[in-house]
Amino acid sequence: MSNPLLDNIHESGIMDTISVSLPTMGRFYEDGIIDENCDPEDLEVRAIGIMAELTSRDPFLLASGKGIELLIPQVCPAILQPDRLTEVDLEAILIASRIATHGNIMVVDSTCTHLVEDEESEGEDAKKPCGEENKIEVDLYDVILRYSPIEFNTNYVVEFQKYGQKAYLRPIEYGQAMTILKDSLTSINESTRFNNTPINDFIQDESKLEEYAEHITKQAITTMGGIINSVFYVETKDGDKVFDRDQIKEWLLAISKDDVKEILNTASDLNAELQENTKIKYICSKCGTENTTTIELDIQRLFFFTPPNSKPKKTPKPTLKTKEKPKTLP
Ligand SMILES: [Zn+2]
Repeated sequence: MSNPLLDNIHESGIMDTISVSLPTMGRFYEDGIIDENCDPEDLEVRAIGIMAELTSRDPFLLASGKGIELLIPQVCPAILQPDRLTEVDLEAILIASRIATHGNIMVVDSTCTHLVEDEESEGEDAKKPCGEENKIEVDLYDVILRYSPIEFNTNYVVEFQKYGQKAYLRPIEYGQAMTILKDSLTSINESTRFNNTPINDFIQDESKLEEYAEHITKQAITTMGGIINSVFYVETKDGDKVFDRDQIKEWLLAISKDDVKEILNTASDLNAELQENTKIKYICSKCGTENTTTIELDIQRLFFFTPPNSKPKKTPKPTLKTKEKPKTLP
């Protein structure tokens, strides 16, 4: 039963909602990640409300990445398991909600690091960074259009002719990407600690050696987790598609390490390509150099800091769906 109180608000057109089509069109998701009654190509994204603000603004939750997981279902109720979304889908939802909350203009700060002649210095070739703090006005409508459905082409397929198999790749899940990020930060600290340990200590102290072996194993598990997450399915010689995670894992451990590295490299290229969406080019207002910066899609910057010249847009809401359907995988 619909709530008459809410119907009045929706009819008024004052509460902004934006319809987004997920860049992946939901094709990688198993049941239970997105509400089965919702269409991944037409999801309602709302402005940030009081619950979203109260739950996701905590600095500890923000720093841990948990803030995003709490926020996403509040602004896009169709998402049931936000940590299982690919980063690219998550970004599209965040930008849509930012437009619904604060309007389409966002100011991005970027300090120019281009080296320019240092007039105060005596030396002939003296140079220093320009240092101009540019304020770039970004139209988020332009940005969200980059999140059109992803073209799945041969870049997503790694073929192993000797086995007659093909691995079809997918963009990495947000939760998995966060785990890799956290583990790599811990790993840097641990590696430094072990590097400072004299080699004799390892020989004399067995517990140190065990600790080190554990550290290396943990690193390997994280890397493998990322690779398994990047494989959508593997096609056998007979054309059967294998989606089972455990079977894919077993397969990855059986093929040669060069084959695994090929999958890893292709997956890294794909994820890097998708991250191009958040890049913006601008001309430095002082030295005129063309620079590239990134829109940081963190909750604090998007929602809780409103640039003075950004006004909420209350006019008819645009539908940001891309009409053209991309090619699908065979
Ligand atoms: Zn400059």
